[in-house]
Amino acid sequence: MKKIHSAFVTSIDEARLSERRVLRSALAPRRVLVTGGAGFLGSHLCERLLSQGREVLCLDNLLTGRLSNIEHLTSDPKFTFVRQDVASPVAAEVDEIYNLACPASPRHYQADPIQTMKTNVLGALNLLELARQRGIKIFQASTSEVYGDPHVHPQPESYWGNVNPFGPRSCYDEGKRCAETLFFDFHAKHDVEIKIARIFNTYGPRMRPDDGRVVSNFIVQALQNEDITIYGDGSQTRSFCFVDDLIDGFLKLMASGRSLASPVNLGNPVEFTVLELAEQIIDLTGSRSKIVLHPLPVDDPRQRRPDISLAARELDWAPKVSLSDGLKQTIRYFDGLLTQQAHEHAETA
Ligand code: NAD
Ligand code: UDP
Repeated sequence: MKKIHSAFVTSIDEARLSERRVLRSALAPRRVLVTGGAGFLGSHLCERLLSQGREVLCLDNLLTGRLSNIEHLTSDPKFTFVRQDVASPVAAEVDEIYNLACPASPRHYQADPIQTMKTNVLGALNLLELARQRGIKIFQASTSEVYGDPHVHPQPESYWGNVNPFGPRSCYDEGKRCAETLFFDFHAKHDVEIKIARIFNTYGPRMRPDDGRVVSNFIVQALQNEDITIYGDGSQTRSFCFVDDLIDGFLKLMASGRSLASPVNLGNPVEFTVLELAEQIIDLTGSRSKIVLHPLPVDDPRQRRPDISLAARELDWAPKVSLSDGLKQTIRYFDGLLTQQAHEHAETA
């Protein structure tokens, strides 16, 4: 009897949810929750959503994000900021969720690996629960790190990856893999509409100067004529996507039909060695920096390039900004930031 009763309650519950889903899909999503919204990618996403007339609720614990990234948005009545950790339950009257909360730089995500795992796993659970209760769509910022140090090149979404479960990168790599699993389980069990972007190395204005990632490190070093620190011999490869291209991909993926539940690679398929990147940045900044070699970090992937045929076919998406154009914009940003920091330092000295 108890069993029949609970099945009945579930079916009413689900009927209500699907009714809500139909109603919501008839309306353009108005209020969007962006977790990690004060970070590098999150702040660009908030800006783009506001420019489309959406209301944005930006949630961030400011671990690596900065209020200065969203300062220019705070005068917009459609923008709200709330300081919160996604590892605690999230309650919000929203119609769509983008989950970007998690430090992306190895320096920052390795500083407190247990916190990183909690952010990825508990954060995904809390937000999926919110999506389930409200019957709304949810986007996950996953990563090329789910492929680890890949044996298949370039990496298609069908590749299962080569990931160390207990190395220094595991809190991030396995945390993001677990989050993907949770997304699929909520989709299968509760019919939550999910969108998963596997993001490859992305760069641009609003990265932190102390972020520790390769593009920001090299540009800041070059602008200050300091040594450019190559880890290893610089022959490892990455494919660098400019932030504006990536945000286009996010919006197209979120707008895609319900049937597209597969993870989708988003990144620039043009591959460079780390040495080529250093040389290009020295050239574009006219720097007097010298290249110096440092030890390669443990488990540093040898090569990485996205196969973006799924995004091209399903989303009609491909990056448009060349590395040199994107680097020029990023160099201008860091140049302005370093000049401003030097003025502030001189004033307080
Ligand atoms: P970022 O570090 O600039 O931004 C992450 C944001 O999340 C920060 O504002 C930080 O304060 C916030 N945050 C961290 N832990 C949180 C928590 N527990 N609760 C609430 N907020 C929290 O990094 P980013 O480059 O903007 O990356 C954004 C997302 O995209 C991350 O999930 C990252 O894993 C993913 N990603 C980025 C790249 C890339 O190249 N930029 C590549 C792959 C995946
Ligand atoms: N890297 C480097 N010098 C730096 C920072 C990074 O040579 O000052 C290398 C790093 O070892 C890796 C690549 O650049 O091979 C990309 O590093 P990043 O931390 O930007 O991203 P990820 O390793 O997560 O792709």
